[in-house]
Amino acid sequence: MVFGKKMNGAEEYVPFKYAPGMIRLDANESYADMPDEMKNKVLAEINAQAFNRYPDPASSDLCKAFADYYGLYASNVMAGNGSDELISIICSALLPRRSKILLLSPDFSVYKIYANLYEQTVVTVEKDEELNTTADAIIDAAKKNSVDLIMFSNPCNPTGQGIIASEVEKIVASVDCAVCVDEAYMEFWEENETVLPLINKYDNLVVLKTCSKAFGMAGFRLGFAVGGDNMISLFKKAKMPYNVSALTQAAGLVALKNREYLKNMTAQMISRKKKLYNSLKELESPIFKVFDTKTNFVFVKTPMAKELHAYLIKNNIVVRYTAPDYLRITAGTRGENDLLKSKLEAALGETGIH
Ligand code: PMP
Repeated sequence: MVFGKKMNGAEEYVPFKYAPGMIRLDANESYADMPDEMKNKVLAEINAQAFNRYPDPASSDLCKAFADYYGLYASNVMAGNGSDELISIICSALLPRRSKILLLSPDFSVYKIYANLYEQTVVTVEKDEELNTTADAIIDAAKKNSVDLIMFSNPCNPTGQGIIASEVEKIVASVDCAVCVDEAYMEFWEENETVLPLINKYDNLVVLKTCSKAFGMAGFRLGFAVGGDNMISLFKKAKMPYNVSALTQAAGLVALKNREYLKNMTAQMISRKKKLYNSLKELESPIFKVFDTKTNFVFVKTPMAKELHAYLIKNNIVVRYTAPDYLRITAGTRGENDLLKSKLEAALGETGIH
């Protein structure tokens, strides 16, 4: 029987079991929950829904609100059940099996998981020691391997590095394939190197956005695909009929209409990230390298990554460990960031190298 054989070699995603009160700096979420005033607005909207009815399959009001927020046309937008759903659609429905997908390494692990699940062929461009790559390297690899799709996060999870918009445009303009730019963390890059303004200039470009990071709504599962009319009509053909629940649509609408709230929240997260970065920089040494960041997290390289990860968990703080020697640390509240620093300082002090 072949049933399930496809999963041979695949690994189940085992979520971390947080003990009560643990400080969670491992998932790049917003450190702040929605204030009660906003929550009450969301609850009032949810209360007004008829629970026996399916939601609007097109999430029309939500797409319009999202388009207004970013100065786009609603016809350029499709909502998804988190951007994870949109990544899955791209790797499955929009490409035949054995298509070639160019990914960067390191980058968001979900791209490769879906590419493998949907039996695509992955072509990888490795980043250098400083965790960067160039538009030319990507273009060369795309052409040499005749790839069908290039997909990368910008700025990048997990490295925190970014490619400026003019370089991304160079890629999109030079290749003969689709390019998916996942801008999950673009709100945190103060120079704002988004390529959203290019979506009607290039019909091979799709941009992914999420409400899970700067908008602090990871629990609701809401992401958006943005592209030219042809691109979005492909997505609409491929999505599940009722992919965004009525609850999520209601919550997204409330958030997107409260622009001041979203802007303030993002500004505060940027400020926390800067403070976290500066305090980690103070710990920098030959065994503790801190990378610059355009996101809401800081990426660190240290041969002690595994030990530090375990030590922090013992001290009630969870950060993300990436083998072999990286830690990815999401900016938390001021108190959380301070505690993290003091624990790291103590641990590094014990090595006698720092
Ligand atoms: N893209 C990137 C680069 C991410 O880091 C994440 C979340 N970790 C996602 C997409 C998925 O976001 P969502 O919660 O919208 O599914």
